[in-house]
Amino acid sequence: MTLRQAQGDRKDFPAGSVWLVGAGPGDPELLTRKAARLIGVADVIFHDALVGPCVLDLANSAARLVHVGKRSGRHSKDQASIDRLIVEAALAGHRVVRLKGGDPSIFGRSMEELEACRAAGIAVQICPGITAASAAAASLGTSLTLRGLARKLVFVTAHARAGEVLDLDWQALADPAATLAIYMGKAAAVEVSRELMAAGLPASTPVALVENASLPDERSLITRLDLLALAARSALGSGPALLLIGAAVAPHAVESHVRSATSALHRTEPVHDRTDSEPDR
Ligand code: SAH
Repeated sequence: MTLRQAQGDRKDFPAGSVWLVGAGPGDPELLTRKAARLIGVADVIFHDALVGPCVLDLANSAARLVHVGKRSGRHSKDQASIDRLIVEAALAGHRVVRLKGGDPSIFGRSMEELEACRAAGIAVQICPGITAASAAAASLGTSLTLRGLARKLVFVTAHARAGEVLDLDWQALADPAATLAIYMGKAAAVEVSRELMAAGLPASTPVALVENASLPDERSLITRLDLLALAARSALGSGPALLLIGAAVAPHAVESHVRSATSALHRTEPVHDRTDSEPDR
């Protein structure tokens, strides 16, 4: 570390302060340089389940690492307890990093933690990260927006509280000119597919499923909206997965479906892996 960096550390990360840091999608090279520096300087790091071990390797050897992760159905700590732990650590004079998968501002419950710090008079800042949708699009070799085809990008979570139905505006989401990036959508794949089609999105709309984006065990596949449920059931493992829905995901598929609209709508096809070379998937 250079002297200038060391001085910077003291200036923007004094004892008793908190940084909410985006850890990116998993690949440690997709961390920002700022995130890597803050992780290296922190005395205490509260991290999510989605933060990979290679990212945590950047912590200094004296740092205390606390896993406060939440994975669907297996909440290890509730949000109020996490807020309290962060505040207590900062009040004890530690430099605290709250490390979150992806970008803290996207389905990251960052406001609760920010508010808890502010209410306790603790200085708190945010370091953004690369969100899962960006990593998934990069892995697929595609773009989240596409000139003329996808002018709108919608980040949406398909996570419902236990026992509750998904309360989404399906009509608004079923926009053929949008790309939907659906977080926490694996368990709701059946409902997502059914509701979007009922709201008018064509059955042939391309859908990409990307699991463990940017990690060595990444898996991805491109299918169509009417086959989404089957694909989610048969092709995904237990890792975090993102659904990307819309023309931008597979622009060639859309062009080809426009050419042969009727047959495309009635074909039932097996799910293809994206390694398939058919240009019309
Ligand atoms: N703040 C995070 C999202 C947290 S919500 C971000 O910006 O990426 C957790 C959901 O994000 C997971 O259920 C999954 O849908 C998605 N996700 C996170 N990491 C992922 C990864 N490496 N690959 C695919 N999806 C991922």
